Amino acid sequence: MTTITIDSRQRVELIDITEKVRAAIRDRGIADGLAVVYTPHTTAAITINENADPDVAIDLVMALNKLVPFDDHYHHAEGNSAAHVKSTLVGASETLIVENNIPVLGTWQGIYFCEFDGPRRRQVHVKVIGT
Ligand code: ZN
Repeated sequence: MTTITIDSRQRVELIDITEKVRAAIRDRGIADGLAVVYTPHTTAAITINENADPDVAIDLVMALNKLVPFDDHYHHAEGNSAAHVKSTLVGASETLIVENNIPVLGTWQGIYFCEFDGPRRRQVHVKVIGT
């Protein structure tokens, strides 16, 4: 397992980790297999979406903030329930197909770490399985 450390800078943001994940996979030298990209946090997530136009990530943040208001009579005393809800909606992991040491992604796809309760220091684990 490889662990990537991320320092988020905003309360809610998508951070492109595609190159870091590619490097973690490359280091393992797998011709044919899978890679799980997983974040061990309850107020963060992993997603795959367009990284060609940076406005897409901005729009995703805008839409998620609209869908899940920061304040909405939540019960959780820590005050970050919106971040927990977003984490569950988006999900803690993505599974990638690995061929010839490279994750198979579409032309416009990138891998994002989703910060929903920043800024914080975060971790992303990459586990590669294959031959
Ligand atoms: Zn909490």
